[in-house]
This record gives sequence, structure tokens and C-alpha cells, in this order.
Amino acid sequence: MANTQGRDFLFCHLCGTMLTAPSPKYAQCPLCKTKRDINDVKDKEISYTISAEDIRRELGIVVMEEQKVQLSKVDKKCEKCGHGEAKFYTRQMRSADEGQTTFYTCTRCGHQFQEN
Ligand SMILES: [Zn+2]
Ligand SMILES: [Zn+2]
Repeated sequence: MANTQGRDFLFCHLCGTMLTAPSPKYAQCPLCKTKRDINDVKDKEISYTISAEDIRRELGIVVMEEQKVQLSKVDKKCEKCGHGEAKFYTRQMRSADEGQTTFYTCTRCGHQFQEN
């Protein structure tokens, strides 16, 4: 599971844009042009990801892999900075016993916390 976890290296550390790999030697941010040496990232993963992406684009397939995240704002006190507004979404856990978990992200400091 967790196919979107642990892939921060695919995103620009400055602006968060998804990096492209115009050359096998480096990855580049299309927005701010920051380059990252491919050795800085796990090349096997990035090449796999890029090729999968290319294939999809080639075939015109739009794959909705993203979590279905519905962000809404709610009056919720941030447990870290005390700010009174957070964005939240809920996710149903696999086990029925666990019910629904609500995830909050503070709109001020970005702190993430959750609540069952
Ligand atoms: Zn960037
Ligand atoms: Zn906060």
C-alpha cells in the first residue's frame, strides 16, 4: 500500500513542483529550474515512475491514483499553535472497528493531526 508515500524526492524542494527528468543525469523542476543530480534521488524509482508516467501520457490514460481527499475548512483548534482553523478530510479505515479517522491540517502552521 502507500504508493504515494516516500517519494518526496520527486518533488522540487523549493516550490514543490513535480520534477521532470530531461536527462538521465539529472532531474529538473519545470517551474524554478532547480536541478537535482539523479544520484541524489533513487534512480531506479524515478526512472520507473517517469516511464510509467510517460506510458500513461502516451496512451492518453488519466489514472486517478490520488487519494480522494476532500479538503474543507473547519473551526478546529490547532494543538500546536492554537490557531482556530484547519482543513480536514476523513478517511475510512480498512477495519470497520476503527471507523472513520478525521485528519486536520492547520491553515496557519501546517501542523497535521488526527482524530477518531
Ligand atoms: Zn521548483
Ligand atoms: Zn497550527
